[in-house]
Amino acid sequence: MTDKNEDILLVAHAVHFAARHHIDQRRKGERAEPYMNHLSEVASLLAEATGGASPALVAAGYLHDVVEDCEVTPAELRAEFGGAITDLVAEVTDDNSLNKTERKRREVDKAPHLSIPAKMLKLADKTSNLRSIRHSPPSGWSRERMQEYVTWANDIVAGCRGTNAKLEAAFDDAKKALDAHLRAH
Ligand code: ZN
Repeated sequence: MTDKNEDILLVAHAVHFAARHHIDQRRKGERAEPYMNHLSEVASLLAEATGGASPALVAAGYLHDVVEDCEVTPAELRAEFGGAITDLVAEVTDDNSLNKTERKRREVDKAPHLSIPAKMLKLADKTSNLRSIRHSPPSGWSRERMQEYVTWANDIVAGCRGTNAKLEAAFDDAKKALDAHLRAH
């Protein structure tokens, strides 16, 4: 088996693992898109930004919310995907025992100290979230609440810059489009 075969097996396994565990989850937006669409968008952004050079990062893109949002333990993830991917997912997993305000503050504080792949994951994740808010705003969110989200995402991204120009440009485009949309509505 070649390395390329193994890369395809890894990514296919990650896609299927994520799809199975997020099966009943939907996005908060008015279209209630399947959660899997968020994961495939993040994974695609990472694949494109690295020119396909990092299958483990693409796999982590699919898996990044599986511990935080599903009943998957780090031990289970480690058994399926090994230590490197599990450690990367752990870096971008929030501590759900903290209250929301504290969790959000920590995410900003932690960003500059993340590894390069974890910073890339954050950039792709926040880009996907800003695009979703524009195309399918979460029901019940006021303009102010969306604006607050943009500011918070931008603070996290500020700690992740200098990592990957394509991902940073994708975030900036998504932010610019959402800012214009919020100004117009
Ligand atoms: Zn996510």
